[in-house]
Amino acid sequence: LIRHYIKRFLQNTRGKTVANEKCDRYNEKIKWRFFYERKEQYMSEKVSVPEIFGMNVFNDAMMREHLPKKVYEELKNTIERGEMLNSEIADIIANAMKDWAIERGATHYTHWFQPMTGITAEKHDSFLAPPSNGRAIMEFSGKELVKGEPDASSFPSGGLRATFEARGYTAWDPTSYAFIKDDTLCIPTAFCSYSGEALDKKTPLLRSMQALDKQAVRVLRLFGNTDVKRVITTVGPEQEYFLIDASVYEKRPDLIYTGRTLFGAKPPKGQELEDHYFGTIKPRVSEYMKELDKELWKLGILAKTKHNEVAPAQHELAPVFSTTNIATDHNQLTMEMMKTVAGRHGMACLLHEKPFAGVNGSGKHNNWSISTDTGANLLEPGATPSQNAQFLLFLTAVIKAVDDYQELLRLSVASAGNDHRLGANEAPPAIMSVFLGDELSDVVDSIEKGVDYHDKEKTLMSIGATVLPHIPKDTTDRNRTSPFAFTGNKFEFRSLGSTASISGPNVILNTIVAESLSEFADELEKAEDFDSALDKLLRRELVAHKRIIFNGNGYSEEWVEEAERRGLSNLKSTVDALPVFIQDKTIELFTKNKVYTESEIRSRYEILLENYYKTINIEAMTLISMTKKDIMGAAIEYQYTLAEVFNAKQATGVAVTAKTEEKMLAKAASLTEALAERLDKLEADVDKVDESADALEIAKYYREVIFSDMSSLREVIDDLEVVIPSDIWPYPTYGEMLYSIK
Ligand code: ADP
Ligand code: MG
Repeated sequence: LIRHYIKRFLQNTRGKTVANEKCDRYNEKIKWRFFYERKEQYMSEKVSVPEIFGMNVFNDAMMREHLPKKVYEELKNTIERGEMLNSEIADIIANAMKDWAIERGATHYTHWFQPMTGITAEKHDSFLAPPSNGRAIMEFSGKELVKGEPDASSFPSGGLRATFEARGYTAWDPTSYAFIKDDTLCIPTAFCSYSGEALDKKTPLLRSMQALDKQAVRVLRLFGNTDVKRVITTVGPEQEYFLIDASVYEKRPDLIYTGRTLFGAKPPKGQELEDHYFGTIKPRVSEYMKELDKELWKLGILAKTKHNEVAPAQHELAPVFSTTNIATDHNQLTMEMMKTVAGRHGMACLLHEKPFAGVNGSGKHNNWSISTDTGANLLEPGATPSQNAQFLLFLTAVIKAVDDYQELLRLSVASAGNDHRLGANEAPPAIMSVFLGDELSDVVDSIEKGVDYHDKEKTLMSIGATVLPHIPKDTTDRNRTSPFAFTGNKFEFRSLGSTASISGPNVILNTIVAESLSEFADELEKAEDFDSALDKLLRRELVAHKRIIFNGNGYSEEWVEEAERRGLSNLKSTVDALPVFIQDKTIELFTKNKVYTESEIRSRYEILLENYYKTINIEAMTLISMTKKDIMGAAIEYQYTLAEVFNAKQATGVAVTAKTEEKMLAKAASLTEALAERLDKLEADVDKVDESADALEIAKYYREVIFSDMSSLREVIDDLEVVIPSDIWPYPTYGEMLYSIK
């Protein structure tokens, strides 16, 4: 009724259009107020996806609605051309963004960025400005939107930023939309030092996308394509995770401090029956997944597929793919939401690559492709001869890139956590190879041999002349053992660890493919007869890089030997892989393509090494403390109980035997002795770390000495766990954790 009168009043005083506009705004406001006040109640009810999708995102539709037309168009141009925003426009956008956010209950804003810690960082500022007449004023300027200046001295910089110039700055990435999380307006930003060096994971990713854009457009022009203005890469990351009950999680300091269990005997039932994969989802987990989906949809994240994974308590979520930098932001938010929502459901979400030994760990499949701004997927086999030739050239560029830079690609997924998976028969081997599937392999074979390709009976082909057979998607890949598989119209890079940001692997993927494309473009731009030059190039490159193609079982011993014969590299651990980062070839690649400067590379190398050994150090300290505090105590208590029974039996003097107790006591005593010895050794070795040595030396020491000390201590602990009664054993067992969600 009130609205009705207001409308009448406005109509009389200001005319019809103004009245309608104002009333629409007003209605909108009332709708949101209503929604926010009843948020809890509303969310527990059935929800319409289109209604909530992106409701917490200042996305294109919101921009269109809240910005004057001219400003909106200017911003769109900026986004499309990747230019700087002028300050007037920035002020208008900031103000609109603030009003939009406040309507939705936001009180603070933050520049949301991804420092090299691998997680996201945020510092919240409220919109409050100096009050006027005692009234609160909410302000947000263009300057605050576009640039922030956090004190950055506590973020890793690998020596790039001396402490006296500790300030870094954050710069808005307008290609990734601002969003509201926990009553805070989050502005996705890049993070740099004052001298312009990247201190984060977003900056190099954007640079690598630019590099690929530039080279791919060159190649498209060669095929006579003049309407494509921009080429982007797209990613759909599948995310694996574990869920356990909060009550067991809280009793495991190793999970709390390190994300993984540092010991635990094998439960009677692991994943041997493979009954969990795609199994019925338990009601509690289903409730969790539903709420997670809703939270992600509200943030504009296209959560799509969810299912149980192979290990007990393991699950997966996959989104619909999007532009690589947005997919990267969204994957970070997804991981964060997974943990937050788990907390609300009395559970803990484990994102570590290997939370439990003996069952599968978690990874991330990085589905990657190249698309044009006109909507064409460049890795989709085409329908015409020229599209096919173009497809084959892009395909060959990827094959060449993976072969030329296999060690760099391996390095992109190296971390202390992922060392537990790669090559462990549950994840792809540490050897990089490309899976093409039978059809495409036949095509490649025929090009290589210079013969026409025969599709079953008749189709003949010479490149640039006839049509390639349609390659059906579902026959391309059911080989789960390949690290890098062609799956119909994209590549699936399967070696990523579950915790890591997907930025690193995609920076490398984009850059190495940009490099192949640039070499191809250099050659073909000079050619007099394009078709025959293309023919020659494809044949030559496929022959040269054929060794990287492998369609067989990547888990088998034979492949390791075969790969060695082919001269493929096999960098088994992080410390083996990291030095590749500072090789001349790598520095040349990144500087040429303007993705990293040499000093950025060196600083990142230091950070990765530090991160590696610090991770193992934390694990060692945690294991030492748990062993000393509780495990040793339990072992002694157990022996004491046995000794008491033994003595009591002996003291009766009758003909009862105490043989069993004697045996059990002897076993417990010898295990306890081994426990003490191995604990001492671990402690002593940790003390011996030479902190003045160079980072690679320290990392190697942790890998070779500390890590193996931990494994041998773990063996005894696991043996003790099996013999010590559950009322004395101080920690939840594997069985109790893996089956904690009923
Ligand atoms: P799978 O058999 O591995 O489940 P799907 O076809 O379901 O394969 O795709 C898995 C992932 O690949 C999804 O996240 C999907 O969005 C993503 N994907 C599909 N097409 C592309 C593409 N062109 N670029 C990047 N990712 C893609
Ligand atoms: Mg997949």
